[in-house]
Order: sequence, then C-alpha cells, then structure tokens
Amino acid sequence: MDESLRILVMADGEHRKIAMLAQGKLMEYYEEYGDETTLVNAVILGRVENVSPGVKAAFVSIGQPLNGFLPLGEMQSFHALQGDKPLVSGTDVIVQVKKDAKEQKGAYLTRDIALPGQTLIYMPLNHYIGVSKRVDQPEERETLLAMGREIGEQEDCGLILRYAALYAKKSELLSELEQLKVLWVDILKKAEFQKAPVLLYREPSALTALVRDYATRYQLSVTCNDAVNRMPSPVGGLLWEQVSSLELEAVWRSASVDAQVAQALSRRVELGNGGSLVIDEREALTTVDVNSGRYLGEKGEELALTHNLASCGEIARQIRLRNVSGIVLIDFIDMKTDEERKQVIDCLEAELSHERGKTVLHGFTSLGLLEMTRKRTGVSLRETLQEPCKVCGATGYRNRIERDHKRE
Ligand SMILES: [Zn+2]
Repeated sequence: MDESLRILVMADGEHRKIAMLAQGKLMEYYEEYGDETTLVNAVILGRVENVSPGVKAAFVSIGQPLNGFLPLGEMQSFHALQGDKPLVSGTDVIVQVKKDAKEQKGAYLTRDIALPGQTLIYMPLNHYIGVSKRVDQPEERETLLAMGREIGEQEDCGLILRYAALYAKKSELLSELEQLKVLWVDILKKAEFQKAPVLLYREPSALTALVRDYATRYQLSVTCNDAVNRMPSPVGGLLWEQVSSLELEAVWRSASVDAQVAQALSRRVELGNGGSLVIDEREALTTVDVNSGRYLGEKGEELALTHNLASCGEIARQIRLRNVSGIVLIDFIDMKTDEERKQVIDCLEAELSHERGKTVLHGFTSLGLLEMTRKRTGVSLRETLQEPCKVCGATGYRNRIERDHKRE
C-alpha cells in the first residue's frame, strides 16, 4: 500500500460533489443528492404498534423516537399480488421509508418495497411497470416500457426503468435486476432472524462506497466541509479532516477539480508530449484515438511503441474518470510486431488495475484496434452532468440551413 488517494467532498445542502485525486490528478468524480442521515429507501423490520382504521394507517415502531406512519392501502398492484392481509398490533412487518421523520411527524412508510439500482428500480411485491419521468421522449418511453413489460413478466416483478436504462443493453438491465433480487433475498433472510425494530438495508452513499472499495488498498484522506457526512463507522487508516466551506473551496480550486472535470467531458485530451487522445463516447461503443502529434518523424516506428506506452496511463485514467462502460476500442499508433502489441496490452492492463472498475482486454482486432470491455457501474460522468442535445438529436450534427441553431 504505497499509494494514497485524496477525496474531497463538497457538500452544499443535500447536494454533494465528490472528487478523488491521486498525485493531483482527478481519478473519479461523483455528484449525489441526499445525506447520510436520511433513511429514505432504507428497509426496516418494524413492529406494528397500533392500527388505526380511522386514519387508514398503522403506526409502526422503526427504532426512531416517533413511530412511522404506514398507510393501510398500497398501490392496487401490490394488493392484487399480496392480498389484503390485515395488519395486527404486535406483529412484525417489513417496511421501507419513503419520507424521513420531520418535527412531530414520524417517517412515512410503505410495505411495497422498491429497491433502486442504477438503471432500474426493482419492486418484488407488485407488478407495476413504469418509466422515469426524466425520459421525456414518447418513443423512448414506449421502448423502455415495452422492455420493462417483457422483463417484468419474465421475472414476475414490478419495475421502473430509470433514465440510465436508455443507455443500457437488455443484458445489463437483467444483470442489475439479478443483483437486486439477491439483495431482496438477503433482506428477507435477515428479517427472519432479527428482532424488530431493526435496520435491514440502507443504500450506501458514493462516499461510503469509495471508502469501502479503496480503503484496503490505499491510504485514504477525506477532506469535507460538512460534519453531517462523517463516516458512520470510521475505517482504519482513514484520515478525516473537516474544514470550512471557504477552505474547501480553496483546496478544490488549487486542485483544479472543475477544470479536470471539464476536460473529462471534452473529446480531446492533450497528452503533454505533443500527442493527444480523441475520445468519442457513444451508446454502444467508446472509441479512443491515440494521436502522436508532430514529432514522429523518420524514427516513427520505434517511437510508435514509446508513444503508445506513454499514452496508457492517461487512457486508463480517462476511461475510469468518465466511467465509460461496454465496448471500448483503442486506435493506437500502428505497431509492426506482436511483441510490441503485447507490451502495450500489459502496460494498459497494469494501469487499469488500480481502479475498482472491471475491465477485460480482448486483444487487437484484425484491423489493429485494441478491444476491451468495461463493466457498467453507476452512470457515466457524462450521464451525471450532461444530457443528450435535443437540437441535434445527440448526433453532434445539424442541417446546414439551420443558421440560428445555438450550441448548448
Ligand atoms: Zn447538438
């Protein structure tokens, strides 16, 4: 463990920006809403304290000072599937928090569990199929709805397809659904042997997940401007520093986080040796074009290998930072021998090994492109911060006559 990672967390109300740097270079970047104190989406084994037919609700102890409010009536599709078993005082019930407790009101609960993934929300107890409101094109909604119906029927569950599903293959949706189903089985198993009220599941925040995934391999230091986001259970070796927002902004600026994020959203990345990368992220495929710049002259062939090797670090970093997934094709500068290609593969593999993302290198295609696949985890940087251009239909082109078209 010779390397250290620096994590900056800039919290502004419920909004958090998380930047992870290694030796001053931005390696990963996330934005998220919600804070660690929220119980929204948490699944709890609660105990029914009393049932009040008058307000059509049950009051459920969930380990908070105020009992949670559980409406007796759920979505129609839930009752169609689960029947109308009456709630009885003193019995246990698995509930999920929809809204946190506030002042004199207890948390708002539901029995209709919905486990959110990145591309879809899995609802094990109903048969409802829906699409995120963020998908606003009717054709896209229709496509996702059709896919949702197909999967829901096959898997016997309810689903909501999220915005990121637009970018995902059916196999990716199915594999995420599989993970969520395993999670649900775990929750049910846990509920069997625990004494209510007890927390069965809570979504990890991006920061918690970063610490979980890297704390064993790296020395981590976290600089944060918000006490609320203190790690719930401090991990060994984690350095935690809380500073004022003003101090954090200064650190953020001197680390050029925003500029590095902006660069990771642009097509072209300068390599600092005259060369550059041109990265095109598309739905089905990401391509990386390695350009040598001008200096490959007469000794071109020999320099090709040197230049390709020198590019591997930045290629790996850009893939990680952009959080691209699926097929990636890298067009290195032409090399003559398999030995040279092997060296480049080994070099890239070593560079990629630092991250938690899972990448498989498939070797060079017959046309000399290095082919690799990266497993999808979460949304890409672009999906986090940008949306497809509605003017050009995300093609990047427009008709010549539309002179008044403004670039967004
Ligand atoms: Zn456009």
